[in-house]
Amino acid sequence: MPSHDVMPNIELYQPVQVDDALALANRFADRGWLLGGGQDTYGWLKDRAKSTDAMIDLNGIESLRGIRDTGNGIEIGALTTLTEIADSDLIHASYSLLSSAASRVASPQIRNVGTLGGNVSQDVRCWYYRRGLSCYRAGGNLCYADTPEGMNREHAIFDASRCVAVTPSDTAPALVALDASMVIQNVDGERIVSAEDYFVGPDIDIENTTVLRPGEILTAVRIPDTWANAKFYFEKVADRNVWDFALVNIAVVMKINGGTIEDSRFVIGGVSATPKRMTAVESAVRGKSASEETAESVATLASQGAQPLNYNHFKMPLMDNLVKRALTA
Ligand SMILES: Cc1cc2nc3c(=O)[nH]c(=O)nc-3n(C[C@H](O)[C@H](O)[C@H](O)COP(=O)(O)OP(=O)(O)OC[C@H]3O[C@@H](n4cnc5c(N)ncnc54)[C@H](O)[C@@H]3O)c2cc1C
Ligand code: SF4
Repeated sequence: MPSHDVMPNIELYQPVQVDDALALANRFADRGWLLGGGQDTYGWLKDRAKSTDAMIDLNGIESLRGIRDTGNGIEIGALTTLTEIADSDLIHASYSLLSSAASRVASPQIRNVGTLGGNVSQDVRCWYYRRGLSCYRAGGNLCYADTPEGMNREHAIFDASRCVAVTPSDTAPALVALDASMVIQNVDGERIVSAEDYFVGPDIDIENTTVLRPGEILTAVRIPDTWANAKFYFEKVADRNVWDFALVNIAVVMKINGGTIEDSRFVIGGVSATPKRMTAVESAVRGKSASEETAESVATLASQGAQPLNYNHFKMPLMDNLVKRALTA
């Protein structure tokens, strides 16, 4: 008898209230899977590389959608699509860094259904892992990318710990730069973590990309007005302009007064498992002008300490040049 590649049985739940979704998430815990726009999820299911017993589709929960002015910032529901974020006048008026980042994700079709919650909670894109190989991140005991002949052009140059996969999200560096907070709920209540602490590296948890625990749902992202209307810079470098992940992306916020940089945040993606703040650059530019001269003097601080693999040395000058471009834009 030939074997047929059929989809495994998955129970589908479509709650319309957050409380019901939280109860389901609690009941199924690590046997359940939360579904936003499905643009990361469906790849796993279609490739038969991961599956689940119960799919908890969050799309019917209206209270998880939308962008609200909170008086001292904005709150974005986790189910808000990337297109809604890219097109929002409220976000564009004061936090256009996030509009720029959201508008560079994937393709218009993926942005139309992909959600902010899914974008920041998505899994890594390492070829080997996505193909279903049993590497460290999949619970095995080796890394296929970190070998002399491994395909590691897209992988990490910082902070690797057994796994060398990188954060693939375009909105994540922008949210860290804007000092966003992530609102996380479970059946017992709510906890709020900073965007910087939301993402975790393999040294802390090699099988997950965020601090979310089974039973928890990211319900909203809050952006304080701390950096509203600052000078923003976002750039993504990828092999193709659409439908492709960043090789490196950069999100920068700068408060400039009388030509002098009073404060800044420089955050880079695609170089480590989490969005990386370049604190050495932030310190070095404080009190300086945003100019060619400053750019030249601080740029190499960006890639200082990098530990490239065989095929990704190019990310070092790329990082340095993105910092320069941010300072001279
Ligand atoms: C061809 C292609 C190109 C892509 N290019 C890019 C790119 O350039 N840049 C980029 O950033 N991304 C890219 N992506 C990745 C990703 O699909 C999109 O970023 C999208 O935003 C994911 O959102 P989603 O809602 O569709 O995710 P889903 O697949 O629904 O969810 C992704 C993960 O997050 C979890 N999750 C979803 N919502 C929540 C929530 N509210 N609380 C807790 N957990 C949650 C899910 O359980 C799942 O594990 C690409 C994907 C594809 C297929
Ligand atoms: S980089 Fe990480 S995800 Fe990729 S093969 Fe190595 S352990 Fe697995």
